[in-house]
Amino acid sequence: MTRLVVVGGGVAGLSAAWEATCRGVCREVVVLEPAPQTGGKLRTSDLVLPDGSTLRVDEGADAFLARRPEAVALCAELGLTDELTSPTVGRAKVFVDGELRFLPARTLLGVPLATDDPEVAAVLGPEGVAELVAADAVDHPPLVGDAAVGPLLRERLGATTVDRLVGPLLGGINAGDVDRMSLRAVAPQLADAAAQGGSLVQASAAQVAPAEGPVFQTPLAGSQRLVERLTEELLSRGVQVRTTTPATGLATDGARLQVTTPSEQLGADAVVLAAPAGAAGRLLAAASPTAARLLAQVDHVSVAFLTLAFDRADVPGPLDAAGMLVPRAAGTTITAASWGSVKWAHWDDGRHLVVRASVGHDGDDRGRTSTDDELLAAVRRDLRTTMGIEAAPVAVRTTRWTDAFPQYRPGHLDLVRQVTETLAVDLPHLRLAGMAYEGVGIPASIGSGRRAAAELSDLLA
Ligand SMILES: Cc1cc2nc3c(=O)[nH]c(=O)nc-3n(C[C@H](O)[C@H](O)[C@H](O)COP(=O)(O)OP(=O)(O)OC[C@H]3O[C@@H](n4cnc5c(N)ncnc54)[C@H](O)[C@@H]3O)c2cc1C
Repeated sequence: MTRLVVVGGGVAGLSAAWEATCRGVCREVVVLEPAPQTGGKLRTSDLVLPDGSTLRVDEGADAFLARRPEAVALCAELGLTDELTSPTVGRAKVFVDGELRFLPARTLLGVPLATDDPEVAAVLGPEGVAELVAADAVDHPPLVGDAAVGPLLRERLGATTVDRLVGPLLGGINAGDVDRMSLRAVAPQLADAAAQGGSLVQASAAQVAPAEGPVFQTPLAGSQRLVERLTEELLSRGVQVRTTTPATGLATDGARLQVTTPSEQLGADAVVLAAPAGAAGRLLAAASPTAARLLAQVDHVSVAFLTLAFDRADVPGPLDAAGMLVPRAAGTTITAASWGSVKWAHWDDGRHLVVRASVGHDGDDRGRTSTDDELLAAVRRDLRTTMGIEAAPVAVRTTRWTDAFPQYRPGHLDLVRQVTETLAVDLPHLRLAGMAYEGVGIPASIGSGRRAAAELSDLLA
């Protein structure tokens, strides 16, 4: 019996198990997950309103990028396509100069695609536009290798564009600090544009291909539906999904890998390590100390997501966007807030506004350290400042995501390459998967899991 053990039952690990069953090389597939249920960071639960009614609202991720193939394809394979929906409102706002303004429609991750775009001017102001025009006119040398996002883009676009557009967008997606973030790893298209040298605005415009269809999609029942459906299908294919079962050790006896759980030792012909990088590193400490040491270099950041429901009548308008980003210069605690019941028609009960506000980023640990009361007070203060909401919310839910966001520092992809090369020597039948390596979103996580299982299946075939 060829056995694959998948360590971690988040979407990356489940996708690895799915790919393994599609390929059929491993006759036995076992998924180990310490939590009582699979899904990891994909979680949807009921937000209870004062009248006892409930809304199914995501606690973390609320959508996946549909312009990448991995999540869309997996949903199709699982028969979920008809259950997918997309946001009713596509655009978001940014809080600058004391008010909310629309993010320009035409940017590449916040980099304007034209310097004379009136929507860009509305966010940057005349001085910001002058900075942008001057910085973009310089004949910049081609970027070689990697760079930190902030310093490079300040040089090529001016500080205001970074502070008001690129920083809030990339900082928001990664809970990161653009000054300590790898351009190559978090924004490969921008890195390619910078590698051409000259005007980054023009090179970015050339990177953007016309695209059709929704940008984001999600199952109507919430992002958890994807992992629930995946788990159901895995079970029906005979995969052993063992919840409340962590992997506690990993060793190799030369011929096979041995994965230890609290109750047994499992011999494995191949292993996908799809636990977060910290846990993966600890498991590798004995069998590949060098890989373990390298993985320990991946920092993680904690965030808190506060979901609040307000009586709609208490909220001044206009509610004409999917949400807002808040640049660091605004001095708020929140980094962003999605206007969930505006963004998603199925969260709109006609009476409430559902807001999901995020707290915490690289350099700000309040998402982990603040009490629930402190977080609520800070979020209410910030929603008053940004949206003018004076009233108290009628429902509040606080979700902590501890050490949830891996930080891709400059040189991150080299680090990942070193880990991969080390493991190829130390443990050739083991692969890593998950959001810590080559993309933090759901599609990248699915892709990493499937790739890992595909490579191992080829090796064992
Ligand atoms: C607040 C938040 C909002 C997000 N929003 C979006 C979004 O809107 N769109 C998007 O595309 N992405 C979003 N993401 C990212 C997305 O959630 C991740 O890409 C994805 O869920 C990561 O999946 P994963 O399987 O790599 O990791 P995880 O979901 O972390 O799964 C890893 C699993 O390993 C398990 N594990 C840990 N230790 C062990 C052990 N010793 N043995 C066995 N198993 C172990 C864990 O319990 C966990 O279940 C968001 C993330 C967060 C935190």
